[in-house]
Amino acid sequence: MAQEAHSALYDLLAVRGVSRRDFLKYCGSVAAALGLSETMAPQIAAAMEGAGKLKPALWINGGSCTGCTESIAQVDTPDVATIVLDYLSFNYFETIMAAGGEDAEKQIEETVAAGGYIVIYEGSVMTGQDGNTLLINGKKGTEILEHVASNAAAVIAVGSCAVDGGWVMAHPNPAEATGVQAWLQKKKIKTPVVNLPTCPVNPEWIVAMVVQLLLVADFDAAKFLKVTPMVTRTVDCKVTGESVDLLFPKGIFGQTIHDNCPRRGHFENGEFVTKLGSAEEAMNYCLYKVGCKGPQTYTNCPVVRWNSRASWCVESGAPCIGCGGLNWVDNNAPFLMRMSDMQMGGTIGNVQAGTAAAVVGGVAAAALVAHGLGMKAAGRVGDGPPMEEMKAYDRKRGAKKGGDK
Ligand code: SF4
Ligand code: SF4
Repeated sequence: MAQEAHSALYDLLAVRGVSRRDFLKYCGSVAAALGLSETMAPQIAAAMEGAGKLKPALWINGGSCTGCTESIAQVDTPDVATIVLDYLSFNYFETIMAAGGEDAEKQIEETVAAGGYIVIYEGSVMTGQDGNTLLINGKKGTEILEHVASNAAAVIAVGSCAVDGGWVMAHPNPAEATGVQAWLQKKKIKTPVVNLPTCPVNPEWIVAMVVQLLLVADFDAAKFLKVTPMVTRTVDCKVTGESVDLLFPKGIFGQTIHDNCPRRGHFENGEFVTKLGSAEEAMNYCLYKVGCKGPQTYTNCPVVRWNSRASWCVESGAPCIGCGGLNWVDNNAPFLMRMSDMQMGGTIGNVQAGTAAAVVGGVAAAALVAHGLGMKAAGRVGDGPPMEEMKAYDRKRGAKKGGDK
């Protein structure tokens, strides 16, 4: 059986032109995303090879632009993430499946009745007008989510919209959009939800979670939560009126962009780009002054990168706009302006002290100060970047959210 599965996976890899070496390299990325040593790559590869046909899955769309689907589907060369996800049996994938109408609906019903599946949910939960802001085949999107989640082993909320409503819930949030975990909590559905923000989601994170859930945790949600280090960020959801402890895999969302940024040395030295297209930009100086939200955004984008690990936002010359944060549009816009204060708020963005507030604001600031002092003590830098001067400058100009224009 293992040999058959081995062959099936290798046939798939060979047909798509992926070498064994590339596959192992990819497994190293999955290990990194899981917060494991990359030396675990052979074990992960062996687990994938021995798994045979993986468990069924339903990919459900809520209120979204389908950007997360595009992130996975629109690769111009065979991508290992796509192959591994091909290997997962998607019984329903609204945007790209061949079936339609009643046949597609039947697939959902049969999968839910059989149990033993995972739900990957893309998009926000649109609760406005009693759920009528999103109807699919005459059914409310909220009820579809409740139905598929109720008998699932786990739900993976992919993309910021599924995590907390994303851009759909930006002020004034007329659709009363919120995230999957908040809505399931309100409906007292206890299926575990793992959150993978960013806009769109990075497909490698989905694969990492699938590998962890199906292969490392034997498709047992309790074991999955036990073996996967998580960070919790507590938010107050204005739509449901409840606090919710959002769960994020620590290996992916435990460190800031800034922690791993290759431009960090320029930040420490106070070398900033103040205008896009300038000589400083050509020298890859730090993008903080043109709006980089890396210091307060917790994702491992610099490590896992994007587009088959080709590059990522800052490396390509654009400031991180913080799409991996909570309530990221209201908190971070205008995107190309330096933050002079942190605005928490919006539908789900009020963060409780000690959890996300600390993560997004205080701890980030404290870590920067501590790191700066450490660097100074080590004699590597002088006084570091003039953060207080920058803030004073912003305050003098009366800027609410931005500094340089
Ligand atoms: S502010 Fe942005 S560009 Fe500068 S070091 Fe931090 S993450 Fe990198
Ligand atoms: S680097 Fe920032 S803006 Fe780019 S994908 Fe990651 S979190 Fe989003």
